[in-house]
Order: sequence, then C-alpha cells, then structure tokens
Amino acid sequence: MTTLNHMQRITQTIIPIIIIGALTYTFRTEIHILGLQLVQTVAPCTVPISYRIGSIDSRFGISNAQVLDALRHAESTWEKVAGRDLFRYVPEGDAVITVRFVYDKRQATTERLKDIGLSLDSDLASYHALEAKYRTYKSAYESKHSTIEQESAAFTARASAYEREVKMWNARGGVNASAAERLDRERSALESIQADLEARSRTLQKDADTVNALVDELNHMARALNSNVATYNKVGTSVGDEFEEALYEKRAGQESIEVYEFDGPERLRRVLAHEFGHALDIEHVDDNRAIMYRLNQGTNQVPTRADIEALQSVCHFAKK
Ligand SMILES: [Zn+2]
Repeated sequence: MTTLNHMQRITQTIIPIIIIGALTYTFRTEIHILGLQLVQTVAPCTVPISYRIGSIDSRFGISNAQVLDALRHAESTWEKVAGRDLFRYVPEGDAVITVRFVYDKRQATTERLKDIGLSLDSDLASYHALEAKYRTYKSAYESKHSTIEQESAAFTARASAYEREVKMWNARGGVNASAAERLDRERSALESIQADLEARSRTLQKDADTVNALVDELNHMARALNSNVATYNKVGTSVGDEFEEALYEKRAGQESIEVYEFDGPERLRRVLAHEFGHALDIEHVDDNRAIMYRLNQGTNQVPTRADIEALQSVCHFAKK
C-alpha cells in the first residue's frame, strides 16, 4: 500500500510537470513573444518590436520585396521622430508581429474600380467619375429591386390563393381529377417562380454590395477632398463595416497586421505606418491629416504634430 501511495504521489507530481513541459514546448513561440510583449508593456519603445512577413495572397500582385520596402518606410516614419529603433524586421524565425495580405471583397472592389478606370486617388475628377458610375449602378439596382418587389408581392398573392384552394378541397374531403391536375400545374408554376425570384434576389444582393462599395469609396474620397461634395447612403442590407484597408490585432503571444487593400506603394506605406502606430499602443487622433487619424485620407508620409504628441505620450520621451 505504501509503495502504491508513493507511486501515486510521484504520478501526481510528474504528470503536471510533463503537461507543463509539453505546453511550453508546443507554445514556445507564443511564450517567447509573450515575454517580448511584457517588455513592451513595462518599458515601451525600449526594445524594437520585431516583425515578419507572413502569407501574401498572390492576387494582390505584390512581391515580398515590395511589401518589405513599404514596411521599412512605415518603420522609419516613427523611428525618425523617436530618434531610435522601434521596429526590427526578422527574415526568419519568431517575431512579435506577423504581416499578412488577406484577399477579400475589399481588394476585389479596388480592382473593379481600377478596371473601370478609377483609382483611389483623391482628386475631384476621380470623385466625379466615381459618382457617375455610382449613379449608373444605383439606378440599375433600384429598378431591379422594385421589379423584384412587385413580382414578389404578386407571387405571395398567387401562392396564398393556391393554398386557400387546397384547404378548401381538403375541407370537402377530396379533390376531383381536373382540379387536381390544375392545382398540380399551379404548384409547379409557383415553385419555378419562387426559384427564379430567389436567384434574382441573390444577384440583387451582389449588386447592392457593388453599390455599397462605391458608396464607401465615394464617402472616403469626399472626406479626403475635404470639400462640399455630396456623401451617400448605402442601399439594401448593409455589407458591413466601413472600408478598412488593414487591421492590427494584439493577442497574448501573437500580434498581426492584416492588409486588405493595396492600391499603390504610397498608400500602403501610410496604412502600414498607421498599423505600426497601433502596435506602439498609439490610439487614433483627431487631426484628419494625421497618420493616426481613423481614416487613411491624407497623403503626407510624415507624422503630423498630433502623431508626434501621441508617440511621445506612449513612449514617454522627454519633449525636445
Ligand atoms: Zn486605426
């Protein structure tokens, strides 16, 4: 009995040790990064934040070298102000931040706009060109929408007439042959109308997505132009959030910057500088020309006064 108890005690100690060991091994990267994150929290801006390049969807048509070039520019945006190393590129191995290019509807829209001869440049001519496109797409959407609505109403009325008749026959205890044949034909007619309406509604939703993407872009340009040009509202059900070109995310043991739109190197540098700013713990600032403004609408690559003050407050630099 004593031996068994002794064995039990050993297993009780050893098993947790084995588990901790296994976890440490499995999560060794995360634990390493957790340590680096801790340093960043207790002594911000003292140890450069390491970053690596993760997956880049080939549909962006951007090379690793181009991404790295943009990242180096973004890095120096803050380093020039700070007068010290804040970020460090790691070609291989662990890094705190992984930069990825994730292809979704946003880049698809950017390309669609390029296809129709528009770039995301914020000049008034592009704005009006985009506005004309928007009007065309929107009126096409609206006419399809109202046709589908009318047909849906007609369908609903016809379907309930059919149901009433079926109920009526059921109440009588049965249906005669000619009525049964007619009802059968009516049911299959209703089914094909329904299938058609559903298919067209799905297409309509795609059209709504296009119109809404144009609305996002128009409003984005309107703010960038900072003038009295019109802003627009979305149609149908919303496609979701406002255009976000990139996103910085921080979790314990891993941080990432995901880029969703690439429309030329200058804009990308600014996007990455913005996300690097978040990695330094800088929040959005109110100055609409700032790198850290919530929208990427300026063209300056140099931080504004508001950016510099925000950096100073997170890094606790002595004011020069
Ligand atoms: Zn932001």
